Amino acid sequence: MMNIEEIGIHLKKHDIKPSYQRIKIFQYLLEHKNHPNVDTIYKALAPEIPTLSKTTVYNTLGLFIEKNIVKVLVIEENETRYDVDTGVHGHFKCEKCGKIEDLDINFGELNISQLSDYKIDERHLYFKGICKSCLNK
Ligand SMILES: [Zn+2]
Ligand SMILES: [Zn+2]
Repeated sequence: MMNIEEIGIHLKKHDIKPSYQRIKIFQYLLEHKNHPNVDTIYKALAPEIPTLSKTTVYNTLGLFIEKNIVKVLVIEENETRYDVDTGVHGHFKCEKCGKIEDLDINFGELNISQLSDYKIDERHLYFKGICKSCLNK
């Protein structure tokens, strides 16, 4: 886990001026790998940063995406969530509790012969259903 100082260095390395708000937003994403949306991040940080606005959160995430340190996750069309893990991985969304879990998937093992002569820019793989803990309730 990166500390505040390391987050600052990480942002600078990606050409982002490390303001306090940006550092806090990135730190929140690192600490909450449940793919939060703008609202969740805003509500969590607002008590600590009274000057924060929802627009700032939204714009900061936009900047992170532009600089490739955060990815957008669109599983529902009406809901944008954010992922600090920019590596290739899959997702599972629970339709009951709404949580989105990361899945370790070896995409190299998915042998899709139809795509063998294509140039692939993005890969998304997600599952929807009911998670183990909701099923056990
Ligand atoms: Zn669930
Ligand atoms: Zn993820």
